[in-house]
Amino acid sequence: MNSRLLHIFLFSAISLSVLLAVWIVDRSEQAHYQERLRSIVLRRTSGVRAQLEGALNRRLFFNRGLVAHVATNPKITQSEFEVLAEILVAQQAGIRSLQLAKNSVVSHIHPLKGNEVAMGRDLLKNPARRPAVERSIETGKLVVGGPTELLQGGLALIGYTPIFLKPAKPSDAATYWGLAMTVIDLEPLLREAGVIQGTHRLRLAIRGKDGVGATGDVFFGDGNLFESDPVLADISFPNGSWQMAAAPTSGRESLAPGSWKLRFGGCFLVLIIAVLGWVLAREPERLQQAVDRATAALTESEKRHRTLAKLSPVGLFRADADGRCLYVSEHWCEVSGLSGEEAKGDGWVRAVHPEDRDCVVSGWQEAVRMRKSFKAEFRLQHPSGKTIWVFGQSVPELDESGKVTGHVGAVTNITERKDAEAEASRHQADLAHVLRLSTMGEMASGIAHELNQPLTAIVNYSRGCIIRLRQSSADADSGLIEALEHISNLAVRAGDIIRRLRSFVRKEEPRRVPVQLNSVVREALHFFEEEARRAEVTLQLELSQEDIWVFADAVQIEQVVLNLVRNGLEALSGDGHKSGLLTVQTRALDHQLAQVAVRDNGKGISEAALPHIFDPFFTTRPGGMGVGLSISRSIVEAHGGHIQVAINSDGGCTFQFALPVKNGADADAA
Ligand code: ADP
Repeated sequence: MNSRLLHIFLFSAISLSVLLAVWIVDRSEQAHYQERLRSIVLRRTSGVRAQLEGALNRRLFFNRGLVAHVATNPKITQSEFEVLAEILVAQQAGIRSLQLAKNSVVSHIHPLKGNEVAMGRDLLKNPARRPAVERSIETGKLVVGGPTELLQGGLALIGYTPIFLKPAKPSDAATYWGLAMTVIDLEPLLREAGVIQGTHRLRLAIRGKDGVGATGDVFFGDGNLFESDPVLADISFPNGSWQMAAAPTSGRESLAPGSWKLRFGGCFLVLIIAVLGWVLAREPERLQQAVDRATAALTESEKRHRTLAKLSPVGLFRADADGRCLYVSEHWCEVSGLSGEEAKGDGWVRAVHPEDRDCVVSGWQEAVRMRKSFKAEFRLQHPSGKTIWVFGQSVPELDESGKVTGHVGAVTNITERKDAEAEASRHQADLAHVLRLSTMGEMASGIAHELNQPLTAIVNYSRGCIIRLRQSSADADSGLIEALEHISNLAVRAGDIIRRLRSFVRKEEPRRVPVQLNSVVREALHFFEEEARRAEVTLQLELSQEDIWVFADAVQIEQVVLNLVRNGLEALSGDGHKSGLLTVQTRALDHQLAQVAVRDNGKGISEAALPHIFDPFFTTRPGGMGVGLSISRSIVEAHGGHIQVAINSDGGCTFQFALPVKNGADADAA
């Protein structure tokens, strides 16, 4: 259960407890008060009852006087009656009339005036009055009838007392004469008893018409009062009774004094508790809302930072104060090939190239120890095998007191720059090499010039020796002459080579003449006989049967063949190839072109290197310059031919170059 619900539950329970306590106290107060009220009502009701009984009995008393008089004077006249009645009525207010009813028919009335209408009425024939009259005659006692609506108007109670004449002999039955009646106005009676004017501060109702008690009809007040647990009192009079119900007058008195204060106080207390509960329940919610807002802002900011880190071309990292990695960005993971989890702690060290690891780790530890920034260019070893150059830098993070709380840093991939730098420095070395070669070319040109004269001298001297030998004796040593001729020829050839070399390195225009392709190839291969033997490579010549004449600079074409054969030997010798075979083939492709193919079964060329093989400075050899093939292509193309390479299906590769042939007529002329 969360704290808010707990608060609401707690404060609801307290509020309910308070309400319950207030209710219980109020109930007991009410019960107490009602009890007191009831006893007060009872007391007042007793007073009312006593007054009512007194007032009624006083009025009924007149019947006795009438009965006593008539019993002794049964032949009483109206005037005698009036005298008697006048004396009696004068004693008591609230008497409407006194009457006699001889044989139950009204025969005497006082006062007659105003009551004439009643005279001569047979009471037994009046359904409203008959029951009381009959009861009176049957019981021989006073019976109070009504209240009854009188013919002359108004409500009245009527006391009926039967009059029996004394018999002549005691054994005879008494003779019924008639009735003595006292007609009592109801309102003055009730007023006298304090019932009407409400001086007792009671609500009253009376039932028991004709004096039959609780079973009689209600003739005063609200009959519903009997149903609401009233105080009941019996109003007794001779031979009958009424029942009176009493209740306190409604209004404030129905509630115990101070009850409203108690209730208001209780409600006020509950209100205070509820407000307090609401405030206390709201407080954590408010705090929670503040925390939620702050968390959302933080999440948003974190998200933004992560997006920035993701978009950033540099890999970001964060470490604790001891230099242990806490976080690396996605880009860092991409560069290093490690996952974020793997990089944590000291895991990142594994990404550093083994050769740079010690240096980087000690530099980082030094920076952490000295609380200073760190900068270094080093290599990462990607799990794919790639080496990646990075520039790593970090700065310490400080809190307000200047204490180092951690380190943040970035790693930038600088591989391209490093590669470009390496390429540039390689080109620089190549250029230096080319420069040296060019210098060497100059020197070679000078040396060739210097050698030209001694070689010419060698030729002249050997030829002179041959002539002298032949002239001096007919049987001159033929072996000696042959040796001298050989010397002369070699010196001529050396001179040719040197001259062509001079013109080649001096970048003179090539001197194209018809040359036999097979002899150019043979000349070139002479240089490699010894080298091939040492490298245990079989040099195989597959020259065309017929001579193929091409119009070319023999030295340059020889240079091309030299380059191709040298590359082939290097491809064979490099990895200790045991059964190395290098084949050089010449053939006429058609009437236009002749082809030279140099085929080896060496280590071959990778697919990736193939498109760049003729590019200047492309090389895979550690000491190579990468200009041999580039120059060869320039030479071939300058002769109107083309050169290409193909990878052999059984290993190695084949270089082929084609040159335009010199037609037969030209060849003969040459
Ligand atoms: P260099 O020999 O100085 O490297 P080249 O232009 O002669 O320069 O050759 C360029 C590259 O071509 C060589 O480094 C080598 O990788 C490749 N190459 C040339 N000929 C062969 C061959 N017969 N077999 C394998 N690779 C070859």
